[in-house]
Amino acid sequence: MQAKPQLNGLPSYKPGKPIEEVKKELGLTKVTKLASNENPYGSSPKAVEAIQAIASQTAIYPDGYAATIREKVATKLGVSENQLVFGNGSDEVIQFLCRAFLSPNTNTVTADPTFSQYKLNAAIEGAELREVPCVNGVHDLDAMLEAIDENTRIVWVCNPNNPSGTYVNDKAFSRFLEHVPAHVLVVSDEAYYEYVTAEDYPETLPLLEKFENLIVLRTFSKAYGLAALRIGYGVANPKLISTIDPVRPPFNNTLFAHAAAVAALEDDQFIDHCVEKNSKFLKQFEDFCHKHHLIFYPSQTNFILIDFNCPGDEVFDYLLRKGFIVRSGQALGFPTCVRITVGTKEQNEELFAVLEEMLVSKTVEQ
Ligand SMILES: *Cc1c(COP(=O)(O)O)cnc(C)c1O
Repeated sequence: MQAKPQLNGLPSYKPGKPIEEVKKELGLTKVTKLASNENPYGSSPKAVEAIQAIASQTAIYPDGYAATIREKVATKLGVSENQLVFGNGSDEVIQFLCRAFLSPNTNTVTADPTFSQYKLNAAIEGAELREVPCVNGVHDLDAMLEAIDENTRIVWVCNPNNPSGTYVNDKAFSRFLEHVPAHVLVVSDEAYYEYVTAEDYPETLPLLEKFENLIVLRTFSKAYGLAALRIGYGVANPKLISTIDPVRPPFNNTLFAHAAAVAALEDDQFIDHCVEKNSKFLKQFEDFCHKHHLIFYPSQTNFILIDFNCPGDEVFDYLLRKGFIVRSGQALGFPTCVRITVGTKEQNEELFAVLEEMLVSKTVEQ
C-alpha cells in the first residue's frame, strides 16, 4: 500500500488531556481542565433542553442542508442563506477550504505561531506552507503580504490568534485585504469572536460584499459552549460557498447540533453573561501577572498565554500534579509559556493559589 507521501511522519493532533485520564493517572479526586478554551459555564440551558426534546430521534439522517440553523444564523448575521457553509466544527470548514484550494504546486501563508490545523491540512494536501513569524504574538500582515505569490491559494488570519490571544485591528485588516491579490482566499478565523471587547476589532461581515476572496469562520464550540456537538460555519459570498460545498460530506452535522445551536442563538443573555465574566476574570489574570512580574500576551479571548520564563512543560507538569490541566506553550510555539483557559471565579482563584506557591518555591530554588 502507498498513502500520499506527505502523510509520512505527520503527527496526530494532541489534545488537552482528558480529566478522567488525569484523575486515574495521578490518583486525584478533583481535576480542573483549563486547556481547550471551553466555556466553563457550559452552554445555554435552552440548548440542553432542545437536545433532550429530540433525544429519541436517532434513526433518521439529519437535514444535510441544515435549513433550520442556516435560517437562524443568516438572520442573526444579516447575510443570505446561500452565504453559509456548516462544518462539523469550524475545524471541518478549514478542512473543506484546504481540500478545495490546496494541492501540490500551490502554497498557503500562515502566521507562526497560530492555530495548528491550517498547517496540518495544508500538509495533507501537499501544499507548501509559508509561515510568517508573529511580532509579539501578533500577525505580521505586511510580511504575510510579501510571502504571497502567484501560487498562493489561501492566507490565514486567525483573529484573535490562538495561542497568543492577540488581535489584528480593523485598519490593519482592511489595508491587508486591499493588498491581497484577488486570486488568494483570505480566511478570517474568528473562533473567539463573541469574547472580543476591543473596539477596533474588525467587523468583517460587511467586508464580504467588496471582497469576494474573503471567508469568515465562526464556531459554536467556544462562547456558545457546544464543543461536544461539533458545529461551526463559514460566511462568504454565494459563489465561493457553492465552490466549496461539494467538498462537504452530505450529513456532516448531527440533528442534535442543529437543534442545540438554534436554541443557543435564542439566548443572548447567556452569551452576555459569559462574556462579562470572562473579561472580568481575564483582568484578574493580568493583575496576577503584573503582581508576579510575568509577561503575558494581551488577550481578546477566553484564554491567556503567560510567559513563565522557564520551560512550559515544567509549569504544565507542576499544575497537573496539583489537579490543573493547562496547555504547555512548548507544543504551541511559545516554549517558555503556558496557555490557560479563563475559568470560573473559584477555578481561577484555586489556580492563582497554586501558581503563587509554585512561583514562591521557584524563587527559593534559585
Ligand atoms: C477552537 C478553534 C477552532 C475550532 O473550533 P471547532 O470546535 O472545530 O469549531 C478553530 N479555530 C480556532 C482558532 C480555534 O481556537
